Amino acid sequence: MEATLDRPDFFVGGDWRTPAGDEVTEILEAATGKPLGTAALAASTDVDAGVAAAHDALRGPWGRTTGAERAEVIRRFGAALKARGRETAQLVSRENGMPRAMSVGANGFAPAIMFDYYAGLAAGLDADDVRHGPLARTRVRREPAGVVAAITPWNYPQALAAMKLAPALAAGCTVVLKPSPETALDAYAFADAAAEAGLPPGVLNVLPGGREAGSYLVEHPGVDKVAFTGSTAAGRAIGEVCGRLLRPVTLELGGKSAALVAEDADLDVFLAALPEVSLANNGQTCHASTRILAPRSRYAEIVDAVTDTVKSLRVGDPLERTTQIGPLVSAAQRERVLAHVDAGRRSGARLTAGGSIPADRPEGWFVEPTVFADVENTSPIAREEIFGPVLVVTPYSDEDEAVALANDSEYGLGGTVWTADQERGEALAARIETGTVGVNHYALDVLGPFGGVKASGLGRELGPEGLAPYVALKSVYLPPEAR
Ligand code: NAD
Repeated sequence: MEATLDRPDFFVGGDWRTPAGDEVTEILEAATGKPLGTAALAASTDVDAGVAAAHDALRGPWGRTTGAERAEVIRRFGAALKARGRETAQLVSRENGMPRAMSVGANGFAPAIMFDYYAGLAAGLDADDVRHGPLARTRVRREPAGVVAAITPWNYPQALAAMKLAPALAAGCTVVLKPSPETALDAYAFADAAAEAGLPPGVLNVLPGGREAGSYLVEHPGVDKVAFTGSTAAGRAIGEVCGRLLRPVTLELGGKSAALVAEDADLDVFLAALPEVSLANNGQTCHASTRILAPRSRYAEIVDAVTDTVKSLRVGDPLERTTQIGPLVSAAQRERVLAHVDAGRRSGARLTAGGSIPADRPEGWFVEPTVFADVENTSPIAREEIFGPVLVVTPYSDEDEAVALANDSEYGLGGTVWTADQERGEALAARIETGTVGVNHYALDVLGPFGGVKASGLGRELGPEGLAPYVALKSVYLPPEAR
């Protein structure tokens, strides 16, 4: 099986391209640390070829398609992704440690849902939109934004790529997808499905590569729009370049979101949701509610309950159906997370669960799900994105302080409010400075715009709003109609 996981070529211009260089990445299975496969990494010449192919496709018949024509192709593409969904989901779990039960939804089937949704919106772009104003008639045309550079991280590699590909193709753009080296293998599901669905050559090009290839792509003169998901540090660097170039960019970045547990919260509801809301994908989730804000009146009860819940989570092989916490993506990520845990220990916070590598999981990149209580909101473990299974609990005295603590963060991506009073919960949610927030629930949906404020990013993906960045508006002024 291992041999079939090697991907030595890139997908460029509808064909398999032999890499210009010889840089290859070896992907190790997250649960065992053993080799899973290899993938070629793009050099600048490969990126040039990808952008040129995307450019040619845009100038070719694809650039003249109607939205309705594209909708058909996008639906076929989505169906081809869906057909290999279980296989892709399993591959991602092996690459990045995501429990398979979650990966089947997030990586296996979510992309097809997004492809179907944006296929549905594509035909709407064809509508003749003529506006009769006081000075002229204006025909508003919705044209493709052009060649899109889509750069994605390793944590939800299929869903995050689909959030860009589906609206980009619906709008008539062409795409160069640069996935992370850590999840280079699963990215080929897009190439395989595109070939099978008959996507015209060059409309999608897949070139795994590292940071250098990414930054070369962002600056490339042939790129018209950048869509990035990843760390805030990389997002800032990309934003600076795009600012200089005046190149449109969407940035989906890091987070450090709060779970505000109100005094009247039903703890059973909160605890049942906790693994998914705060520790999804082993904590490797940008919108996770990892800062738990607990009222002083119920503080000990909440710390004990969160600790017991986290200690009860089943840590293990991500491919096992019952596993709730799998390994982290890499040895380097495990080191980073353990360094945060050490910083937490030194900060004087009280470790109530986890804190180490599980004794029965020395292989692979496991970290015990961990809880720190009595954490000051000024402490680095309350401020920095850890991106592992580490929660902090901070007490508050009243609602205003809870809201202030939730908002006292560089980030603003997710967040949740837990209360027996749904209406009061929505009022609290309205006071939280964030791009998304859940009340007694948190789940992304294809219809809901997703994205951050502050250092969590710029722009939105999903929903009709997620299509707009890929559409270039052109106003064609026409003479007023004869009266
Ligand atoms: P990362 O920023 O290191 O890398 C992300 C991608 O960008 C990779 O493909 C990488 O090769 C590329 N890259 C890195 N530096 C670049 C540069 N200067 N120019 C161009 N490309 C560059 O992030 P990661 O470690 O892969 O992913 C984890 C981060 O992603 C976390 O901070 C997480 O919060 C964030 N994330 C955000 C969202 C969101 O929607 N807001 C979703 C998932 C992950």
